[in-house]
Amino acid sequence: MKLDPKRAVLAILAALWLALATVLPAAAQAQTGTPAQTQAPAGGPQSDVASYQIQVTLDPTTKQLHGSERITYRNPSPDTLQEIWVHLYLNAFRSADTQWMREAGGEHRGFSASAPGWIKVEQFSLADSGTPLPLPGGGDTEETNVRVPLPTPLGPGKTLALDVRWTAQLPRVFARTGYAGDFFMAGQWYPKLAVYDRGHWDTEPWHANAEFFADFGNYDLAVTVPANYVTGASGVRAGETDNGNGTKTVRYRAERVTDVAWTAWPDYRVFTREVPIGSSQVQVEVLLPPDEAGNASRHLDAAQAALENYSAWYGAYPWPKLTVVVPPEDAGGAGGMEYPSLVTTGTNAPIPPGLPVLAQGVHMLEIVTVHEIAHEWFPMQVQSNEGAEAWLDEGFADYLTTRLLGRLYGFDSSVMDLAGLRQGYAEMMRGEAKALDVSREPLATPAWQFPSFNAYVATVYGKGSLTLLSLERLFGDERFTAALRHYADTWRWRHPTSADLQAALSESLGENLDWFFGAFVFGRDVVAYRVASLDAAKAVVERVGEVPYPVDVRLTFADGTSRTQVWDGADQRLTLDGGGRPINAVAIDPDERIALEMDRLDNARVLQPDATPAFALAGRWLAFVQLLLQLFGQVG
Ligand SMILES: [Zn+2]
Repeated sequence: MKLDPKRAVLAILAALWLALATVLPAAAQAQTGTPAQTQAPAGGPQSDVASYQIQVTLDPTTKQLHGSERITYRNPSPDTLQEIWVHLYLNAFRSADTQWMREAGGEHRGFSASAPGWIKVEQFSLADSGTPLPLPGGGDTEETNVRVPLPTPLGPGKTLALDVRWTAQLPRVFARTGYAGDFFMAGQWYPKLAVYDRGHWDTEPWHANAEFFADFGNYDLAVTVPANYVTGASGVRAGETDNGNGTKTVRYRAERVTDVAWTAWPDYRVFTREVPIGSSQVQVEVLLPPDEAGNASRHLDAAQAALENYSAWYGAYPWPKLTVVVPPEDAGGAGGMEYPSLVTTGTNAPIPPGLPVLAQGVHMLEIVTVHEIAHEWFPMQVQSNEGAEAWLDEGFADYLTTRLLGRLYGFDSSVMDLAGLRQGYAEMMRGEAKALDVSREPLATPAWQFPSFNAYVATVYGKGSLTLLSLERLFGDERFTAALRHYADTWRWRHPTSADLQAALSESLGENLDWFFGAFVFGRDVVAYRVASLDAAKAVVERVGEVPYPVDVRLTFADGTSRTQVWDGADQRLTLDGGGRPINAVAIDPDERIALEMDRLDNARVLQPDATPAFALAGRWLAFVQLLLQLFGQVG
């Protein structure tokens, strides 16, 4: 059958877009109000606030987890706590009627009401006295975040130990967690403390568009599974015991982490590589389905590139191991998620099998891998509230992805480079943000307040990453990378907000960023310029958006020479004359330094269209927008 190349490319782009939209975001919770405006807490890193010793046994027949845990919580605040809050995330999937499922639109691809998920707490008591603490519904509730009053208030710096016993039903793989046959991915799977920060508990239930928020601590995990299962988990392997009854218990230990996740499947193929980071070695362990084993080096290479580059830019990867999990094909919903020192990714799946040329030219596998590993810095070390300010999580991950892919494959061909058809990641982000018209959505918007899932994705991933890319191009790569490193160093093992990011960047750059953050992060103003008129004697350029943003304006003359000047954008208009030389073209921001200007079609004009650089640029962008419009038309 003859394949129309244009349709094939569109189909691939559509598949890529669908995969990104479904693979990258997931589900969760957060806090109300405007946390970005509140005072940052005093004190330094808080890497040992909430620690867990967990024993869990997998029943592969019922798909249930039987667990017990000792939670040790140290009150990190200057306040006396009268209560604690506890997440019971799996209750989001108890029925098609939970708050989470209603927010998700009543139906979520892959959700089966006949294979729901839930968690029931059978014991919740003070460890020292054995005193039971009351949970709503006696521990059997539809809630995903429950309030538990304390019999004795917990003073500042004081420690509380809790003994918890519970049963969890994993759903058929759904929203990052669950089972598919004898494959298991346990995410959001155990009773877990909420965060008390800046004077209040995070009382938000888990929302469909939101991810997570947790304190740092140390984890001891003992997973009991059938003896023939291959396991992987956050942290490092700390021993294995054959129980002599057809099961084994595998122990893991993780330090300074906000969570642990684990997976078990008899069919995994395991590949490892030692990656030198600074003066230590990080072990990368990749767990692959058998039919993906031939791509092992590609998965390892992507992980290594991410570890090396992010470490160089934002501080050395702080854990001894990174586990990369690729779920089997019928469990794709478990892919594309981040946990401390463990990520789940995917294959080059959108590419039809048997087309190795396409597979080489399209970087789907690498995109997802380096995106998820970026989260090992933001938010796994710099733990912002992923629900309340999702852009500090996903915008950062996609900005890091843009940077790294650009270095690996070229900025304009980082998504694909196929027979002269090239697609850059940042350009794809901008196309998405433009098509969904999210330029006026404030970045610091809680995930559950976006009008739609698509608006959430386009804003926090798309506008978020383009905003950081714009700052990079405004201040230069070196200065901005140093500033982000300063943010990471200041807030590692703590809970920053957008306001804390602004303060850290301002401090490092020595610049007041109120105008920038006020417009794009906290406000609804946009940056937009256009060419108002052009003739051989003069060009008039115009600021259409509210934000006066420093911008390059380039005149190209009839003799082929050009002149570029910086306009501060303060006035509404700027008139440029050629100083006696006839003008042929004018281009605003010809080098696309303002990455978050969504509409660039009116940024350039030419009198004699003989492919001056400025016009070639605008023409390419136009072609791309047309491609995307068709793409979105196909996706629906
Ligand atoms: Zn992400």
